[in-house]
Amino acid sequence: MDLGIKGKRALVCASSKGLGFGCAAALAEAGVDLVMNARGAEALEAAAADLRSRFGVHVQTVAADVTTEDGRAEVLAAAASPDILVTNAGGPPPGQWSDWDRDDFIAALDANMLTPIALMKACLPAMMDRGWGRIVNITSQSVKAPIAVLGLSNAARTGLTGYVAGTSRQVAPSGVTINNLLPGIHATDRAESLDQGVSRAQNISVEDAKAQREATIPARRYGTAAEFGATCAFLCSQHAGFIVGQNILLDGGATNATI
Ligand code: NAD
Repeated sequence: MDLGIKGKRALVCASSKGLGFGCAAALAEAGVDLVMNARGAEALEAAAADLRSRFGVHVQTVAADVTTEDGRAEVLAAAASPDILVTNAGGPPPGQWSDWDRDDFIAALDANMLTPIALMKACLPAMMDRGWGRIVNITSQSVKAPIAVLGLSNAARTGLTGYVAGTSRQVAPSGVTINNLLPGIHATDRAESLDQGVSRAQNISVEDAKAQREATIPARRYGTAAEFGATCAFLCSQHAGFIVGQNILLDGGATNATI
């Protein structure tokens, strides 16, 4: 399917690896020029070179922590009013509800709620002036059903979801859509580090921890960054202009809910 976005410009945050890279790759395949961001320059340059050579698109890189004000300013200066924005950053650490104090919550809110809000606020006016824009926020299945050990994620991402629910309806008249993609377990470095956490906590091997988590997913496997990216690219396509303010779960059926 032609997504109809060849020649558009996208800012994809936290995209040298994992789900962010999956989104960047699928957009590049659709002919979109990219500004890619990640903290570490080496992996970022390798990812950008890979996409340039495979898809022939223009890719600019910004090595910066997007959750800091300075990092965001650098990324936004390079992207200069993109047509497409994909927000993403690392998730908060796991723990127990009794572990976290105010500073932990402030860090999680900064990274997973206030950073995407600041990026949207910066990019929306130009998208609305042009009468076209697409924003996809990478959130988590924890928005639909809380994950016990990820209380910081449950809290921060639900705040972002409320903001998007209200804002997406206000910008839709200008041809701009905002939607959230909610990953369940996907095979990325993040999933591997959570497997290692389960392995340590239960004194089992990492392989057994993975098998145990796969067994909780009706699809009986982890998702891939490529299939996640393909869904993101569709949401950014010309065909998705009527999808507004939605929370789309990509979890292999893991969240047991009727709707
Ligand atoms: P990951 O840890 O594998 O992603 C790594 C990428 O994010 C790298 O490119 C890294 O440089 C970049 N990054 C991380 N923090 C950054 C920052 N502050 N500034 C700039 N770049 C940054 O993560 P992932 O598995 O791809 O997950 C992406 C998001 O989705 C995370 O917020 C994660 O919590 C969430 N999520 C992931 C899963 C999963 O199973 N993978 C499930 C639910 C939610």
